[in-house]
Amino acid sequence: MSDSYIRLIPDDQRWQPTVEAAASAAAYVAELFYGQGDAVERVEVTFYDRVTLIDAGEYTTRIACSRCEADISLDWLGDVVRENGGASFDSLDVLVPCCGAAAELDSLHYEEPIRFARFEVSAMNPTRARSELDGTELARVAQLLGHPVVQVLAHY
Ligand SMILES: [Zn+2]
Repeated sequence: MSDSYIRLIPDDQRWQPTVEAAASAAAYVAELFYGQGDAVERVEVTFYDRVTLIDAGEYTTRIACSRCEADISLDWLGDVVRENGGASFDSLDVLVPCCGAAAELDSLHYEEPIRFARFEVSAMNPTRARSELDGTELARVAQLLGHPVVQVLAHY
């Protein structure tokens, strides 16, 4: 069994909407995927106290160093998260394993987007044929939230 998610996040990793704006955006996303009042509970809103890694699950297949361009193993990222005690970070500063450079986690190159945010709207198992939001829909979510958004498609 596996689950697909759409994760909608502000394009500024520290920005958070108001609770009211978050609820409006979530209601709109729920409408897109489930129709009026149907299974709306599968759309979730999450506020994170700290900057949090928003990953793409199995879709993330490759990480490359932003300094030396060497491949970095996914296991390394898993270890970073484990040592940090979770995916929410006080600081994104790391020493990369390839060349030992000091870098920020959000500066590494990810084959499928990994982003960082303090807020997300996530829709589990999107049920319509086209799962991604188009430009118009993303613009509407951004308008409701009050900030530009990006989407991360994830599969676990
Ligand atoms: Zn490197």
